[in-house]
Amino acid sequence: APHIVIAGVGKVYRAGGREVVALQDIDLAIPRGQFVCLLGPSGCGKSTLLNAVAGFAAPSAGSIRADGRVVDGPGPQRGMVFQEYALFPWMTVAENIAFGLEIKGQPRADIEASVARLLATLSLSDFRGRYPKDLSGGMRQRVAIARVLALDSPIMLMDEPFGALDALTRRNLQDELLRIWAELKKTILFVTHSIEEALYLADRIIVMTYRPGSVKRDLLVDLPRLRD
Ligand code: ADP
Ligand code: ADP
Repeated sequence: APHIVIAGVGKVYRAGGREVVALQDIDLAIPRGQFVCLLGPSGCGKSTLLNAVAGFAAPSAGSIRADGRVVDGPGPQRGMVFQEYALFPWMTVAENIAFGLEIKGQPRADIEASVARLLATLSLSDFRGRYPKDLSGGMRQRVAIARVLALDSPIMLMDEPFGALDALTRRNLQDELLRIWAELKKTILFVTHSIEEALYLADRIIVMTYRPGSVKRDLLVDLPRLRD
């Protein structure tokens, strides 16, 4: 069975007496281990779809399943990385990464071993005692990725995670992400509005479109891509 199944999903926002149709009749099945980029112009509904898969906002129509179970709220199975890193500012790098493990009630020694491994995986070992405000944007995104990996989430949802980074840092993090994805066999749903980024990362690109003058928003193109 596919890892994620999105069936007939629609989303209508009601704001100030107005209705905005953000998603309409989205059908999408994502196999386990696929790296999917969701590409499209601003406003076409990418974040809405990602948030629905995360369980942050329920769809108005249709259903989403992950691992066969209906998504009806957030859970550790589906880890989210935002563009604006959302790290706890009062916690060090190591504490931010350890947070999810502490919630799970893992023994202290296990937590320390996991954190050390994740710090090494993301080249953060020298920064473990720093606070987010003393890190560059790229380093903060490394911490955000490490935090999701700490939860051992088989599904990684990423909403323009590298959008605010300079080109060189972005390329480094893209390469790290590809390495992690290949090594840990994650299913990744990655939102971007950069065609270049989607071509570099994805083995499947979903292009979402937005028709001006119409409320209809659709999935338009589904491009499988052969990785060499
Ligand atoms: P994208 O991520 O592709 O830029 P979004 O999912 O953020 O698109 O938005 C899709 C549409 O829904 C846009 O028209 C946007 O203005 C609207 N929208 C998003 N969030 C809300 C909200 N909380 N309330 C009302 N409208 C919203
Ligand atoms: P360009 O697309 O700029 O002509 P290449 O396709 O030659 O560049 O790729 C440049 C580098 O990026 C190479 O080291 C290649 O292995 C790597 N690369 C390109 N696409 C991917 C991908 N989808 N996955 C992993 N590495 C990639």
